[in-house]
Amino acid sequence: KSTAQKFSKEKSTVSFKDVAGLGEAKVEIEEFVNFLKDSKKYKDIGAKIPRGAILIGPPGTGKTLLAKATAGEANVPFFSTSGSDFVEMYVGVGPARVRDLFEQAKKNAPCIVFIDEIDAIGRARGKGGFSGSNDERENTLNQLLVEMDGFATLKDVVVFAATNRPDILDQALLRPGRFDRQITIDNPDLKSREEIFTVHLKPLVLDKSINYAEKLASLTPGFSGADIGNVCNEAALIAARKNADIITMKHFDAAIDRVIGGLEKKNSVLS
Ligand code: ATP
Repeated sequence: KSTAQKFSKEKSTVSFKDVAGLGEAKVEIEEFVNFLKDSKKYKDIGAKIPRGAILIGPPGTGKTLLAKATAGEANVPFFSTSGSDFVEMYVGVGPARVRDLFEQAKKNAPCIVFIDEIDAIGRARGKGGFSGSNDERENTLNQLLVEMDGFATLKDVVVFAATNRPDILDQALLRPGRFDRQITIDNPDLKSREEIFTVHLKPLVLDKSINYAEKLASLTPGFSGADIGNVCNEAALIAARKNADIITMKHFDAAIDRVIGGLEKKNSVLS
């Protein structure tokens, strides 16, 4: 029975300027940067520092990116893991992994712990529908709740979790002192898509006199930030394959078609 680490510690090089759009979410998460940088100021005046936030939104909208950027801005280590890493067939492994994760985090405080797909362990207790032992999953969730309640010992560890299924989460996770803040992130609107394109177009070789970001934003309703990143990279790949010197609109058009094709495939698998 291995409790081998399933979480990675990294120094984040991402900053808020890498996260386009998401204005409100950034404002909300910025508070955590201040806590992490100068927790003494808050404690001295008697404030209890929020334990963490849950980032809610569809896939590819920048939840992981925003959590990483928070670590980058606060200049603290970033521990990342996924809820599914705690779901194990062997009894006791899930809770042990949760304990390991928080032990590491405490040693490295101040720091950020990020749990993607929290719903894999945070699904409401007493409801079935998950492969593997349900008791085991409940024990893992209970261990997570215990760790988050350890306020005195968990001093400067901030926990972020991400999900696109807030409806199935155990309400216990959302109580004060646990994931007290809920930050919702939706697919980007026109203006946000333009901002995200601007970030992802920056490293590309283009005719900079043309406003591609604006054009492309209007062609991509319903695209997530991740889809936009894909469009930009696909266009570059297509242009390179055709031995073009610069990327032009026809490469972007082909890239958009390809990304839409990929999305359609994914949807037909799901339905
Ligand atoms: P998932 O739910 O699938 O884990 P997520 O919401 O965590 O998705 P990220 O992993 O943060 O999404 O985003 C994937 C990639 O998409 C990012 O690394 C980045 O390249 C791009 N991206 C997404 N949103 C943004 C954004 N707001 N600004 C810039 N890039 C973005």
